[in-house]
Amino acid sequence: MCAGASGRHVSVMWKTVSEDCNLACDYCYYSTCGGKPGKINRIESSLLDTFMKGYMRQTSGVAAFTWQGGEPLLAGLDFFEEVVSLQAKYAPPHTVISNSLQTNGTLLTDKWAAFLKSYNFLVGVSLDGPQEIHDARRVDALGQGSFNGVLKGIGHLRQHGVDFNILTVIHKGNVNKAAELLDFYKRENFDYVQFIPCMDFRSQETDRPGVYEITPEEYGEFEAFDIWYNNGSPDMSIRFFDNMMGVYMNAEAELCIHRSVCPDMLVLEQNGDAFPCDFFINEEWKLGNVGVQSLKELLSSPVYREFKSLKPRLPEPCRTCEWKSLCHGGCPRNRAWSDNRMSSDPDYFCASYKKIYAHADERMKLLAAKLRREQFKKNVDRYLKGHAPGRNEPCACGSSKKYKHCCMESM
Ligand code: SF4
Ligand code: SF4
Repeated sequence: MCAGASGRHVSVMWKTVSEDCNLACDYCYYSTCGGKPGKINRIESSLLDTFMKGYMRQTSGVAAFTWQGGEPLLAGLDFFEEVVSLQAKYAPPHTVISNSLQTNGTLLTDKWAAFLKSYNFLVGVSLDGPQEIHDARRVDALGQGSFNGVLKGIGHLRQHGVDFNILTVIHKGNVNKAAELLDFYKRENFDYVQFIPCMDFRSQETDRPGVYEITPEEYGEFEAFDIWYNNGSPDMSIRFFDNMMGVYMNAEAELCIHRSVCPDMLVLEQNGDAFPCDFFINEEWKLGNVGVQSLKELLSSPVYREFKSLKPRLPEPCRTCEWKSLCHGGCPRNRAWSDNRMSSDPDYFCASYKKIYAHADERMKLLAAKLRREQFKKNVDRYLKGHAPGRNEPCACGSSKKYKHCCMESM
């Protein structure tokens, strides 16, 4: 993240090779090359240099990058060596630089894994479940499944101790197979998993309604919660439920969809065109180009202001919803808007969210209380020499509330 024009932290997601990809997953919302990328269009060195220099000049100690595609590994190792070298060149002293990379996993090699480990990249690997499910839709240009290639790639990551998580698209082929998916992930020791619903629109088609391959009812019935909860002792991380638990423990969700405002982020096309979100990539929402405009100019554009105003403009059912503090109205891209964008329907997945929240609520409360007690005790022992905090001091559970307004009653 970088403290942009007005001291805001701005993270960057860069589509490293535009739509180029070596796979042809049938549900892809971005790439159109059918798994035959041809000549790779990667970010040009001069553009990378210009941007890195300007961005780092405005950092306030943290710089966060996500490298996406298409398939970003097609840019080549030399490209990423240039990235980390420019980051080091332009970052002010003591800047914490984070890099994450989203890959289909099939091009990972021993050499890649050694590099990713050296520079502490966090790697997201796309995998849709066991072989039969994964190979039905994540295929190459010849229609052959990519499962074996992905697992081989993960093997390289493991050998080098690279941090990675699994990104699973939930579609018609796996939405009713939560137990099978999670059983497989547990067997493979995939401890960090994220689910995203399969889109039925391309991210460039912002004028098309945000509809998905699965219905809200199907998504609401995706029975992952009970397995994650594991009788009150979760033994794997599923991002959606971790986020929920965070809110029950008085933290803000980290998933943008369930925060009160969209985070400050620049999504950059390979040619430097800048957009406010991965789901808002078209001319109407173009902020400018990072090769031409400064970060300050991009972030102060009226288009950016309009984008940021969408999420908090909640429809009436959200404003009075009992789950508002967990959901925050979901994603503006999933709401059907009126022509002047002054009002909208609730998020396409509203019914799913309500169902999951109601199903999980009681057990989330129990688990949150247990985790808070454990955290409280740990912090009291570690930082307060075994004494509880004063009633007006911050609570030792880490909620940042005063002790008297937090755990005092229950301790
Ligand atoms: S529009 Fe949706 S996906 Fe984009 S930043 Fe906002 S909540 Fe996240
Ligand atoms: S659950 Fe539905 S009504 Fe409630 S805040 Fe979320 S989208 Fe709005």
